[in-house]
Amino acid sequence: MKEQVLEKIKQAGVVGAGGAGFPTHAKLKSTPDTVIANCAECEPIIKSDKYLMEHNADIIVEGMKAALECTGAEKGVLAVKYKNKKAVEELRRAVEGEEHITLHLLDNYYPAGDEQQIIYEVTGRVVPVGEIPIKVGCVVLNAQTLFHISEAVQGTAVTGRMVTVAGAVKEPMTVQVPIGMPIESLLELAGGVMVSDYAVVLGGPLMGRVAEDPRKEYVTKTTNGVLVFPSEHPLVVKKTEDFNYQLKIAKSACCQCNYCTLICPRSNLGLGVQPHKIMQALTLNNADILADGQAALGCCNCGLCTYVGCNMGLAPSRFISAVRQGLLARKVKSNQKPKNVNLFRNESKVPSGRVIQRMGLSPYDTESKYIESIQTPKMVRILLKQHIGAPCTPIVKEGDKVKKGQCIGQVPDGALGAPVHASIKGKVTAVASDYIEITKG
Ligand code: SF4
Ligand code: SF4
Repeated sequence: MKEQVLEKIKQAGVVGAGGAGFPTHAKLKSTPDTVIANCAECEPIIKSDKYLMEHNADIIVEGMKAALECTGAEKGVLAVKYKNKKAVEELRRAVEGEEHITLHLLDNYYPAGDEQQIIYEVTGRVVPVGEIPIKVGCVVLNAQTLFHISEAVQGTAVTGRMVTVAGAVKEPMTVQVPIGMPIESLLELAGGVMVSDYAVVLGGPLMGRVAEDPRKEYVTKTTNGVLVFPSEHPLVVKKTEDFNYQLKIAKSACCQCNYCTLICPRSNLGLGVQPHKIMQALTLNNADILADGQAALGCCNCGLCTYVGCNMGLAPSRFISAVRQGLLARKVKSNQKPKNVNLFRNESKVPSGRVIQRMGLSPYDTESKYIESIQTPKMVRILLKQHIGAPCTPIVKEGDKVKKGQCIGQVPDGALGAPVHASIKGKVTAVASDYIEITKG
């Protein structure tokens, strides 16, 4: 039975919808004692999980039950922010009578949805740097992923997801859209962009990336937000400004005040992350300054040090991220055990409201309209790699007619990955090295 469920999840192409897209069937092969549903959705403006929980709590809980069955875990915990009252109410109703599934209410802080924070909040355990949650007996699955698991068990492949389209658009909305929908079509759906010179951030404002060319971007299984900001917005500037220019400024402006480290949520969990030390090492070009050379591996790229911590307008998260990438490329592993959690960790939590205010996001933090379904777009482009692992191999050719939900790309034999499926009914109009295009019809 467990094997059958895992196979259904694998064939449906379920991947982590809230992170980098790790194939879910592979995660569910482990044997944790606790499965945690990450329902925190901590990035400002994004409301895709919030609406999903409000409208589909039963399906999410069914997904949790399937995850418990696959892993054999004793308990499932839905970790949700107390401030999302309607979602809490719906989840509470949906778990009624479930002996092994409970709710855990989280404070409204950023980054409450960081895997490390949520595991500590729910279990009091800390995952050592470079390890994954199973090391401490946990598996963490996002709310949208649990929704997809539940659908997969019913035989439905991943063909759509909830996306928040907001920022400088006419009608901000959170909407269920087909995978592969052009980002440009989504912006049109939201009434169009309200400013002439703008940037599109894919994902949340802190951790999302600025699209180089939004006309060449498509919704993937991990796209939770499409946010539009004026190009001169400090958020966009910090993300896109020339790296070497930022480094030059940092050399003269970083006063080693240490605020970036004091605010760092990973540092406060005892993981040794010290952005101010990285800044010092980089600006002095001297790595010997670092007490723990591998500590950058503990950074989750939450951006708090940059967008809230640094009063000098510097971007320590960009530098620490570059150091981290370098360490990962050289396959360096951390040999440090977690130190004590900061006794004042609770007091050092940064309220979400402060993040919004510090980042100049208040004008964009509006209620977005919930839309359950939309008219099928004229065309979708399904990327062959929307997950961690090997890209899919196309199993259709130009001119083929496909049905919604039909598998169009499979994982190469023996590789880690997740198949992709047609998200609309139509005709295959292009098979490229990295995508399959389907035109409605
Ligand atoms: S907060 Fe800014 S100025 Fe202070 S140490 Fe960190 S990077 Fe330097
Ligand atoms: S981005 Fe900054 S605040 Fe966030 S974990 Fe990394 S160093 Fe810490």
